[in-house]
Amino acid sequence: MTAPLNRRHFVLGLLAAPLALRAATAAVEDQHLPPWTPGCLDIHHIATGRGSATLVVMPDGTSMLIDAGATNNALDVSAAPMPDASHRPGEWIARYAQRHLRATGRQQLDYLLVTHIHPDHLGDVNDAAPLSAQGAYRLSGVTDVAELLPVGLLVDRGYPAYDFPLRPGGRYAENYYAFVQSRVQRGLGVAAIRAGSASQLAMRGGSAPFSIRTVAANGEVWTGSGEQAKSMFPPLSSLARADYPDENVCSIALKISLGKFAYFTGGDLTSYTHDGELPWRDVLGAAAKVAGPVNVATADHHGMFDGLSGDVVRALRPQAWVIPSWHLAHPDMLQLERMLSQRLYPGPREVYATSLMAANHLVNRRLTSQLRSRDGHVVVRVAPDGASYTVYVTGNGDEDDRLKWVSRHAS
Ligand SMILES: [Zn+2]
Repeated sequence: MTAPLNRRHFVLGLLAAPLALRAATAAVEDQHLPPWTPGCLDIHHIATGRGSATLVVMPDGTSMLIDAGATNNALDVSAAPMPDASHRPGEWIARYAQRHLRATGRQQLDYLLVTHIHPDHLGDVNDAAPLSAQGAYRLSGVTDVAELLPVGLLVDRGYPAYDFPLRPGGRYAENYYAFVQSRVQRGLGVAAIRAGSASQLAMRGGSAPFSIRTVAANGEVWTGSGEQAKSMFPPLSSLARADYPDENVCSIALKISLGKFAYFTGGDLTSYTHDGELPWRDVLGAAAKVAGPVNVATADHHGMFDGLSGDVVRALRPQAWVIPSWHLAHPDMLQLERMLSQRLYPGPREVYATSLMAANHLVNRRLTSQLRSRDGHVVVRVAPDGASYTVYVTGNGDEDDRLKWVSRHAS
């Protein structure tokens, strides 16, 4: 499939009002993504076609990878692996990180954050996955990344017991627990996320007006005051087993801020309440309300039917949406309708998808034809003072980081 703009096009932005596109004209032909420079905040939505992976480079060069998905789903329902199948998705993610961390002078990840225990966020495992040279687990997703890049602190929602609300099972989960256990035995850092905290995922140094706030985790949502969080979930003893919170509603959500700039991402959080039957499941609604409005947001749960409610869209009202898509069902038609709706919030906005499948484009063409890009890495680069930011789309068919799209915005 082709991107809406090919490399012969020029990218035009308009207007000068705050929260609107600011003048921007850039010929992108044959240009490459400029390297990160100190003071900037980079957020790279890496398009492997096989799950979520987002590299964050903080203003002082501190780095964090959010998820490293690697689904084994077949090509009838999942996008093809990108750039190709010569490496596993986790290896491509590690190579991407190595390439873009070069500018910071440190070839390591300070944090690796796993939003929740699912294969498209941490890596599926089968007999074909090779064994690690470092411990008794197989390589896929986060373990592939950790094999190639030192990881300072691994942070997830369940460490150390992984028993709330129930211990996630399955081969991929057991492989991940073996990886965690191996890290502990080797004296490497592992920590449980703290909902509400703005100090846990801190820069190593530097004095920029920068923070990462954990807005939600395990159903606990930041109250907006101090570092306090409050659980949305009823006591588990009051619920039937079938109604227990699932892995998605336990996802970690973050608000990343630099000066006036703000970004929201919530893993696979959902807002769907079974039409009001289970109102406590709308963790995304509560998280978006306390975090928004923001400049850039991800369409959580990949833009699936149960992600963005109208209230979530109204609360976040970003200038740019990024859909971390990889499956046939990403995104859902109503989710796109909401992202593009001038009724839910007025003004210009851009919508990007990392890997839109051709069949999805066929179904949703009326709306997907309005996407700024349908495949490629989506890189948000925020200027050192946070007053402006640039969205780049780069090709994911190779490792050249060639530009497909550039647009500049005021925060
Ligand atoms: Zn997912």
